[in-house]
Amino acid sequence: MSLGDFMKIGIIGGGISGVICAIKASINNDVTILEGNDKLLKKLLLTGNGKCNYFNDDQNINNYHSEESLEDIITKDNIEKVKSFYDEIGIIPKIKNGYYYPTSNTANSVREALLKELENNNVKIKYNYKVNKIEKQNESFIINDELAFDKLVISTGSCAYPKTGSDGSGYKLLEDLNLKIVKPLPSLTPLIIKEKFKWAGIRCDAKISLYENNNYITEQQGELQLTDYGVSGICIFNLSSLASRGLDKNKEEVIKINFLPFVDNVKEFLLERNSKLKNRNILELLEGVLNYKLVNVLLDKAGIKSDLSLTQLTDLQFNNLVETLSSLSLQVIDTKKYDYSQVCSGGLSLSEINKQTMETKINGLYVIGELLDIDGLCGGYNITVATLSGILAGENV
Ligand SMILES: Cc1cc2nc3c(=O)[nH]c(=O)nc-3n(C[C@H](O)[C@H](O)[C@H](O)COP(=O)(O)OP(=O)(O)OC[C@H]3O[C@@H](n4cnc5c(N)ncnc54)[C@H](O)[C@@H]3O)c2cc1C
Repeated sequence: MSLGDFMKIGIIGGGISGVICAIKASINNDVTILEGNDKLLKKLLLTGNGKCNYFNDDQNINNYHSEESLEDIITKDNIEKVKSFYDEIGIIPKIKNGYYYPTSNTANSVREALLKELENNNVKIKYNYKVNKIEKQNESFIINDELAFDKLVISTGSCAYPKTGSDGSGYKLLEDLNLKIVKPLPSLTPLIIKEKFKWAGIRCDAKISLYENNNYITEQQGELQLTDYGVSGICIFNLSSLASRGLDKNKEEVIKINFLPFVDNVKEFLLERNSKLKNRNILELLEGVLNYKLVNVLLDKAGIKSDLSLTQLTDLQFNNLVETLSSLSLQVIDTKKYDYSQVCSGGLSLSEINKQTMETKINGLYVIGELLDIDGLCGGYNITVATLSGILAGENV
């Protein structure tokens, strides 16, 4: 590079983080995105069920997970940068309970806005270009033995949803550069449970608590989807990151489901309902509260015949019923794998980067997006990480 020339910046991976980094970096540099697919931002189109939930007002740090502290990254100023960025590119938010979507209701409008910025800034793009080798030679980075850049950003994503292009190849690139990786694991994914029930297809509102080696960890409430292999739904996704890590360390992971989260005292609730509603057996008593197919499964599990009335139950049966309805205990034996996972936990250890700039300990090499060891809950947190790390690297590269 001669004085007066722009720096040549290479960005490996044209997903959310890579594209945003390119937009920022191209203000002062000659930027090229190297993308394995024949188009950019494939995964973005799937986000938020095609509506792209890109931000959330609730920025409690506990909504993010990492092996390292995130205090220096999830700061008020940084979060403001993310929000302003979408404003700058013309996305008007539609905010539902703190969850941000584009007012257009479609992820494609976010994609188009980002592509327009790339075009305005003359960012070069090489499509169908898979990077499998990076070498540092003197002050340059040599890609696949043929391209040279002054600085390099790796934004290849994780191994979640590999059909969108994020096939995990970024981890290999990092390993080859001797950078430390926290083991990637499936996250925001369904859980497989030991017992099998005939409840596939049922959806209900529930509160689910996660226990590890008998210790309470955390809980989530929302729509629970019951499946032939176990449980799914956003509340389960939000528990899966911690469950996945625990299972990997051979810990016992158990979920307890409360099917009546709106009831304070289940015993009293059942007795009151029984005295109010005449001549009902237990199945009929619970109809109107829970899906009847689910009631049958739960009564079966509690060892209670559905044609009995509440007053015919022994104390033991009554207690069993209460426990099954409010604290059904299930052993988690695995998670669904990467094809079903929205993100991965793990990735480049944050001990390897400068948290203000995203530069690694290798001068001129930056790592951003989901490839970093940061994963968030459902609700816009993962796009926030991709956006923020893209901005920080793009401004500092
Ligand atoms: C179904 C689904 C729904 C989601 N919904 C939301 C949501 O609503 N809100 C939210 O916050 N998050 C959501 N996420 C998560 C979010 O999409 C990701 O966290 C985010 O896309 C990560 O951005 P990234 O830039 O790190 O990686 P990606 O967006 O995965 O981009 C990586 C890019 O790198 C390319 N690439 C990979 N390897 C190479 C290589 N070796 N050479 C060249 N190119 C390469 C890939 O082709 C891809 O284009 C969802 C994810 C999924 C799968």
